[in-house]
Amino acid sequence: MLVKHIRDIIINVLVFVPLFISQIAFGQSQQLELKYLGAAGWIITQDSLVVLLDPYLTRLKLDSPASDSKDTRKSYERSDYFQSDSALIDKVIQKADYIFVHHSHFDHLSDVPYIAKKTRAKVIGTESTCNILRAYGIPDDQLYEVQGGEDYIFEEFSVKVIPSLHSALRFKHFFDSRVYKDPPGAPLKIADFIEGGSLMYLIRFDTHQVLTMGGMNFIEKEVVGLTPDVILTGVNFSRNEIFNYTGRLLTATNFPKIVIPTHWDNFRVPYEFSQQKAIEDKIVPFIEEVKAASPESRVIVPEHLKSFVIKSTK
Ligand SMILES: [Zn+2]
Repeated sequence: MLVKHIRDIIINVLVFVPLFISQIAFGQSQQLELKYLGAAGWIITQDSLVVLLDPYLTRLKLDSPASDSKDTRKSYERSDYFQSDSALIDKVIQKADYIFVHHSHFDHLSDVPYIAKKTRAKVIGTESTCNILRAYGIPDDQLYEVQGGEDYIFEEFSVKVIPSLHSALRFKHFFDSRVYKDPPGAPLKIADFIEGGSLMYLIRFDTHQVLTMGGMNFIEKEVVGLTPDVILTGVNFSRNEIFNYTGRLLTATNFPKIVIPTHWDNFRVPYEFSQQKAIEDKIVPFIEEVKAASPESRVIVPEHLKSFVIKSTK
């Protein structure tokens, strides 16, 4: 009952109902298609261009009891070696041109070696991200090593790389200044996927500017004055450690028309498991925060592996 009630609130009152891919007329362009991979992972498609953000599909059963007792898969500890679920990745990802990585923790980077090898996609990320990929044999001509501040143009888009901060985990006690100056030994243990610095990206496609986040923190002076029409906003609990997180973020970025929560799901369970608790605990209050800070914005709550389209507003 509660589940249905919450769903009704989300769909009827506050949320723009996205146009799903089945409704797209063939040949239309000037629009972006987004597919949520869970955690901070996305597939963004514009015409034939395929861009991935932090694609993490393996969704290891890690750190029980945070995982689910109904999940019968093998349990992992952080001292275990990481291995991608390549069969699952092959089902979901056939092509990628570019992969943007926000930071190097396992839930952002650990599936990128397999995906980069398989697709030959170019990867944009920090020195640590690139050194981990070198460790897995990804060649230098596939890697763009950035630190934040770059504003690069590519054939089908341009991207401003934005210095950022990691989520304030462990009630603000998280801090890790380690970086990989050289490739570590591969394969890596789960714990060896260190943060290595955090970035955001402003990706300017033909008709949309998408501001991306890989977590629940940002540097206000680095985002103030940006005018994205779409923002992927980190919505896990640690946003509550940040002063006026949603209000400051949306105000600084000129009240983006479309707000899409990211990194809000329980990524330690398989895709088919319910995310209702995460929706109730994180998404519902976040929608209220958006409504208060930026009433004209529309919130799209993504579902795992379902595509939706953002049409041009021009
Ligand atoms: Zn992280």
